[in-house]
Amino acid sequence: MALDSRWFTEEWAEQGAAISLEIKRKLHEEQSPYQRIEIWETGTFGRLMTLDGLVMVTDRDNFIYHEMMSHPVLFTHPKPESVLIIGGGDCGTLHEVLKHPVKQVTQVELDERVTRVAEQFFPALCASNNDPRARLRFADGIQWVKDAEAGSHDVIIVDGTDPIGPAAGLFSEAFYKNCLRTLRPGGLIVGQSESPLFHAGLIMAMHQALRGAGFKDVQTLHFPQCTYPSGWWSATLAGKNGSVANFRAQDARNKTFATRYYNAAVHQGALALPEFLQNQLRVASSE
Ligand code: SAM
Repeated sequence: MALDSRWFTEEWAEQGAAISLEIKRKLHEEQSPYQRIEIWETGTFGRLMTLDGLVMVTDRDNFIYHEMMSHPVLFTHPKPESVLIIGGGDCGTLHEVLKHPVKQVTQVELDERVTRVAEQFFPALCASNNDPRARLRFADGIQWVKDAEAGSHDVIIVDGTDPIGPAAGLFSEAFYKNCLRTLRPGGLIVGQSESPLFHAGLIMAMHQALRGAGFKDVQTLHFPQCTYPSGWWSATLAGKNGSVANFRAQDARNKTFATRYYNAAVHQGALALPEFLQNQLRVASSE
């Protein structure tokens, strides 16, 4: 089928594939100091935010990603009080984290314009930005954890862009070492880890970097995300001291807030790895 100006297309050049979303109109565009931010009104996915031409958020499916970046790690930690989010400028992860009885959430986003544009075009994602427990800071997250006080957080959530440009360092062993130091005993980190189908090599490298930095257990959870490359996405979770394969299932079953994707059974299922990924990670852990 021929594509024309009614379609937004993100090409996944290395994969010989692409995603297209029907567009009604462009609502906003600007070049921030860091990236090109565009907002589109789509035919069936509501509003779409792209950064440098790559899909970040749509109204229709962002709940899956934001819930899976937040609730598994927070129901794995026994009592998360202090949370650090790196990236996450659209504020959807922050909104989910604040559903938990945490004491403080600091979000360190490189590009303030992403947050300001999200506040305008994705008000539901930004509904908790004025929660007294939320602190929004605009800085490089890599430098932030280098300078952070040791033992200052229970959970770190790395909700960054693909591993290119300023986000490349968010996947490095040096960054994870600083995260480990920033975590309290029993602390946990989770980072978005791309597509199991397209980027299994990156997931393997992330496991090695997290273990190399000193994290004791590393697990990858997977979930659908139809507007990201391959339509299948993952988050990789690691523990400073112990296993991250078990979680507070009873608390997750009795959660006091609403979710649309996450529940205790989904959490358990997301930890079950497909055969090819399990085999690749086994090879990675023996190298
Ligand atoms: N859900 C998205 C995905 O997986 O494609 C990520 C969304 S969120 C908008 C990603 C954010 O990470 C962007 O706003 C970007 O500015 C931010 N970011 C990239 N590198 C960063 C860094 N080094 N420190 C802090 N934020 C960073």
